[in-house]
Amino acid sequence: MAESFTAVIIEEDAGKARANFKQLTVADLPDHDVLVQVDFSTLNYKDGLVISGNRNKVARKLPLVAGIDLAGTVVESRSSKWNKGDKVIVNGFGLSESHWGGYSRFARVKSEWLVRLPSAFSTEQAMAIGTAGYTAALCVDALVDFGLTKDVGEVLVTGAAGGVGSVAIALLAAIGCNVVASTGRAETHDYLRSLGASSFVERASLQQKAGPLQKERWGGAVDAVGGLTLVNVLAQTKYGHAVAACGLAESADLPATVLPHILRSVALLGVDSVNAPLAKRERAWQRLAKDLPANKLTSITTVEPMSKLPELAASILAGKVRGRVVIDVTR
Ligand code: NDP
Repeated sequence: MAESFTAVIIEEDAGKARANFKQLTVADLPDHDVLVQVDFSTLNYKDGLVISGNRNKVARKLPLVAGIDLAGTVVESRSSKWNKGDKVIVNGFGLSESHWGGYSRFARVKSEWLVRLPSAFSTEQAMAIGTAGYTAALCVDALVDFGLTKDVGEVLVTGAAGGVGSVAIALLAAIGCNVVASTGRAETHDYLRSLGASSFVERASLQQKAGPLQKERWGGAVDAVGGLTLVNVLAQTKYGHAVAACGLAESADLPATVLPHILRSVALLGVDSVNAPLAKRERAWQRLAKDLPANKLTSITTVEPMSKLPELAASILAGKVRGRVVIDVTR
């Protein structure tokens, strides 16, 4: 075990939360029952907020190690469920919020937070999916439970070229859905088509104020952006169908009416990944293992060193990251 290792620590500095690269030893880590040697973490929107100092109530218990995801190998365990050598994933569960996270070569975590790495994936591939991809799978599971099939007609994905959007498109296409991608970046159309999108909606067209009941078009939707976009998506959803909402890249506001819900039986399915129960997590990872082909996963992924996190954080907050960024915590 390395003597000391680099971690990204969020500390209070003159009333502001600041991200600093610091050297830690295993003795500095919190006392949970499983010690994991981390191979990779990821960059999610929430990580962007925390690293940029705009913690928006994300990092609440400072100081802490940032990084809401990690994948690696168990090196010590006081839990009967986990043994040295087991390959594991942690998504959410308060990492980087109230618990120390994954931007660190070693992490001590609670055994009940761990999900076994599916045999289909390496730790790098699991982090190429990360919280964003696993949330996309939770959204698809929610829609399928509501009744989504390939026969519902067009299914919309907003924030399409981002992490949640990219994976949602691939998973919906795997079911056989006719996937429409809403993006503000026309240059990503070829990329989105390669993931399974069949046509496109310009992001701005969903950001105009319009009526509460519009022409019915969507047989389902995964929304990663919230705000007026989500209001319009609900207003365009077909009678008796559902929208799974997980994000707020546009806005946390929802300036809507109840009309789509009470006149068209449209359902708004809220999706949280942080505290999702283990059974939901395992089901989502099974869907990813079954329906996300390695070539699509490779096409959405870039691997970056942890040392580049400050600029990567600014980039994801500016909506400039395409797909998913894996963070190599050894560099
Ligand atoms: P990304 O930054 O990778 O993607 C977000 C995408 O949203 C962008 O790529 C862009 O897509 C679009 N977008 C960005 N800014 C705006 C804007 N102002 N108005 C409209 N669209 C915009 O983030 P993730 O995919 O990782 O996460 C998406 C959202 O989901 C975030 O809000 C995140 O916090 C949330 N989330 C929630 C989880 C939960 O548990 N509920 C878990 C994971 C994420 P394009 O360029 O294609 O238009």
